[in-house]
Amino acid sequence: MGRMTASAGRVLVVEDEKDLAAMVGSYLQRAGYAVDLAFTGPDGVEAARSAEPDVVVLDLGLPGLDGIEVCRQLRTFTDCYVLMLTARTDEIDKIVGLSVGADDYITKPFSPRELVARVQVVLRRPRRPVVSGDDAQPPRVFGDLKVDLDGRQVRVAGHPVELTRTEFDILALLASSPKVAFSRRRILDEVWDPGWVGDEHVVDVHMAHLRRKLGDDPAEAAYITTVRGVGYRMVTS
Ligand code: CA
Repeated sequence: MGRMTASAGRVLVVEDEKDLAAMVGSYLQRAGYAVDLAFTGPDGVEAARSAEPDVVVLDLGLPGLDGIEVCRQLRTFTDCYVLMLTARTDEIDKIVGLSVGADDYITKPFSPRELVARVQVVLRRPRRPVVSGDDAQPPRVFGDLKVDLDGRQVRVAGHPVELTRTEFDILALLASSPKVAFSRRRILDEVWDPGWVGDEHVVDVHMAHLRRKLGDDPAEAAYITTVRGVGYRMVTS
């Protein structure tokens, strides 16, 4: 168990290969993060509850509970960013299809520097409102949908909707420029990272979750519409 105090953010690494966990942990510590390590699925869930990490680096193959089940459990109590480690590229498609709520994926073997870079990108995103008072932006309203960009809150017909950080960031991007049709590539560049390499359909998976939570039927889109051959944009009247 390695831990150091730092203000850059807290990262939990859940990986049963202890050498790999320790190496990833030490790279993250050198980059200024507080790091916790867990070596089994159940310990990972427990550590996420007690340490309240900003990011969880989660191996897919774990004893006790596999990474998919750990991710499902994390999603019942945290919107932390989940970066999943997989042994093979084709596993990513499988996990994406299972809709477990991971935000990003890295295939082993990976460069620890790349992993640190992805964590840094995530933690640069604002978590809390950074503007206040007169600088606060008015909420964006689309029919019954109200998106508070500064407060990072979403309501449908007055009822709060709980979104993961990635789901909110996608919605905020679209809502900020409601007349623009965003391509999947542009959404990846803006919400993930310009250097993100992976299947663009990861956007579709998050979009499907987002629409379901908003109660938006793609066939009769009330809030977000699919622009054929392009991507997505808000429905504006
Ligand atoms: Ca493993």
